Amino acid sequence: MSDPTRPKGPKTIAVANQKGGVGKTTTAINLAASLVEFGKTVLIVDIDPQGNASTGLGVETDQRTKTTYDLLLEEAPLSDIIQETEIERLRIAPATTDLSSADIEMVSNEKRSFLLHDALRQPAIDGYAFDFVLIDCPPSLNLLTVNAMVAAHSVLVPLQSEFFALEGLSQLMLTIRELRQTANPDLRIEGVVLTMSDRRNNLAQQVETDARAYLGDLVFKTVIPRNVRVSEAPSFAMSVLDYDPMSKGAQAYRDLAREMLGVELAVGA
Ligand code: ADP
Ligand code: MG
Repeated sequence: MSDPTRPKGPKTIAVANQKGGVGKTTTAINLAASLVEFGKTVLIVDIDPQGNASTGLGVETDQRTKTTYDLLLEEAPLSDIIQETEIERLRIAPATTDLSSADIEMVSNEKRSFLLHDALRQPAIDGYAFDFVLIDCPPSLNLLTVNAMVAAHSVLVPLQSEFFALEGLSQLMLTIRELRQTANPDLRIEGVVLTMSDRRNNLAQQVETDARAYLGDLVFKTVIPRNVRVSEAPSFAMSVLDYDPMSKGAQAYRDLAREMLGVELAVGA
């Protein structure tokens, strides 16, 4: 079902945080699967050379013949890159380690920050009727992440509930502010989502309190708990929603999608 309140074309969200291991890929996969449950059609664009989103959705390395490297650096058509996954209405543009050299190879291109932006606006994208495009970023504020933020309408920031979590945010916010002044004036912050939270733990509670004090409404009400089912799911090439639909992790990601869609409807009204 398409959303009549949304302008033509998918809503594109960069899932970014320059820290590794904070839940970017996990959030991209499980938020995407939740949006699918809500009837949406979703594309995950994997631009992390580690290719964890591709692996986590069951696209083996030998199936990744054309990847986001080709999309960014060879102007390959989207239809060559986009693959189906086990999840209906969820597709992926996979990545391989090739991408690790992309950052350097892109520098000499005068459109270096716009390569993903332009690639995702190939007319062929209309044929897929995506409602959402989620870009799974690498753990760095490099040119790949900049490409994601230039291509995106908004940035979703997973924040791990641990000490120093907030410190890295200022650099990320600075990058977003710079891009607003230059390549992407309309870039919004979709929100900050606390991940891997153990609310019985004092430190996690403190991080949540601080994040809400500093960032206010930017922080999603939904908090993703640390849940072993979430970490097990990718090794079965499944989202946690399919792996254990009633687990706390699956329910939390559903809540996150609901909260995101709710906000969107309110804004559109
Ligand atoms: P990033 O993409 O930011 O590097 P990942 O999404 O790969 O981070 O998550 C890092 C690790 O933490 C992975 O092993 C993942 O399975 C695990 N993980 C992520 N979210 C949760 C969660 N809510 N509960 C338990 N483990 C999680
Ligand atoms: Mg990742």
